[in-house]
Amino acid sequence: MDILIVGAGVGGLALANGLVTDGHQVRVFERADAPRTDGAAVTIFSNGAAAAAGLGVSLDDLGAAIDTLGFFDADGRAFAHADMTLLRRWTGYRVATIPRASLLRRLAAGLPAETINYGRQVHTVETAGSGAAVVTADGVREEAALVVGADGVRSAVRRALLGSAEPTFNGWVSWQGLTVAMPELAAGAYARCVVGEAGLCGLMPAGGGLVQWWFDVDGPVPAGRPVIGWLRERFASYADPVRKLLDVLTEADVHAFRHAVHQIPSAWGAGCATLLGDAAHAFPPSQAQGANQALEDAWTLRRALSAFPVPDALRRYERVRARRVRRISSLAASEVTNKPPTSAGRLAAHLISPAMFTRLQLITIKRCSSVLNHDRL
Ligand SMILES: Cc1cc2nc3c(=O)[nH]c(=O)nc-3n(C[C@H](O)[C@H](O)[C@H](O)COP(=O)(O)OP(=O)(O)OC[C@H]3O[C@@H](n4cnc5c(N)ncnc54)[C@H](O)[C@@H]3O)c2cc1C
Repeated sequence: MDILIVGAGVGGLALANGLVTDGHQVRVFERADAPRTDGAAVTIFSNGAAAAAGLGVSLDDLGAAIDTLGFFDADGRAFAHADMTLLRRWTGYRVATIPRASLLRRLAAGLPAETINYGRQVHTVETAGSGAAVVTADGVREEAALVVGADGVRSAVRRALLGSAEPTFNGWVSWQGLTVAMPELAAGAYARCVVGEAGLCGLMPAGGGLVQWWFDVDGPVPAGRPVIGWLRERFASYADPVRKLLDVLTEADVHAFRHAVHQIPSAWGAGCATLLGDAAHAFPPSQAQGANQALEDAWTLRRALSAFPVPDALRRYERVRARRVRRISSLAASEVTNKPPTSAGRLAAHLISPAMFTRLQLITIKRCSSVLNHDRL
């Protein structure tokens, strides 16, 4: 089939890999003029790594493996640990923090040279008859047997297919960056989340001496304030390494992301067009599953297309994925991990072993995973 994917992000490029392998003619239209190098890093859990491997792309050597994830209170006391090496043992795939630029480079590397078309912004999609077509921002109409909108949280394809289905913003903001700050944190495989009344600070090694850090905060920066100065004040009572990190950051290091949430209908396409990744189901990054779910979508859509004709394959894919993604979306939208645990929660966390805590993580991941459950279409 002649398949047109809108968006050369994580999901669009992952899907292109699977479809090219299956012998389809694939074009990816990306509005940016060049491969993306921003966007800090993302944590790829075992489900995302398994999906990428199933699409023919190994992520095994990218970024930094995370072997332990520790949760601390603002005073620096640990209250829970997850042993991520167990996730690797149970699923066969590691957990790693990977700079987005490296991930996109890897996903693009195996594609034929003419596959990705940069500088092509899609304005809308038409789905009448057999097949579909996109109209680009400069008015050119391009037909295909199938169009996949993998164009992110403010998807033009979603707007065309689902009408005014814009995301809502729940008030939380991630202030994040990927820098060479703090070599003692960059080395090794230990990631930490520090949570208190001011919000959550996450610190993860990302490979090559880089640290992925972020501050999840409920509410905007007071108008006219420099962000880092405001974060220093807000997180002043947090122990090291949070304070130490804030001491070395500059305004140029930090970028803001407002937490967006989509309603996820059971059918998110029409005719020979569908959606994938954030375009279908943006949700807050607090469960670190957005990119993983985009990879899961790509894995599932490729399987659906190899077993069923279009458009039936698309509706089957949407149904399977909608059921899985809704679970992680509502958990992420609750921002539960960004709030200090209740005393009962703290006690429970103290009482369970790292292995049990990791087992709970596996349950959470499996609930939203099509690849780890081999979902039937
Ligand atoms: C602060 C933050 C931290 C995160 N951390 C994690 C994490 O640790 N783990 C995780 O799994 N996820 C994480 N995520 C979520 C993750 O980044 C997204 O869910 C993931 O990138 C979605 O992939 P996608 O392919 O759907 O969209 P994107 O990666 O956003 O790609 C969309 C692409 O479409 C292009 N595009 C947009 N509009 C058009 C158009 N009209 N025409 C053509 N091209 C277009 C864009 O330029 C872009 O290249 C995080 C997100 C944020 C904001």
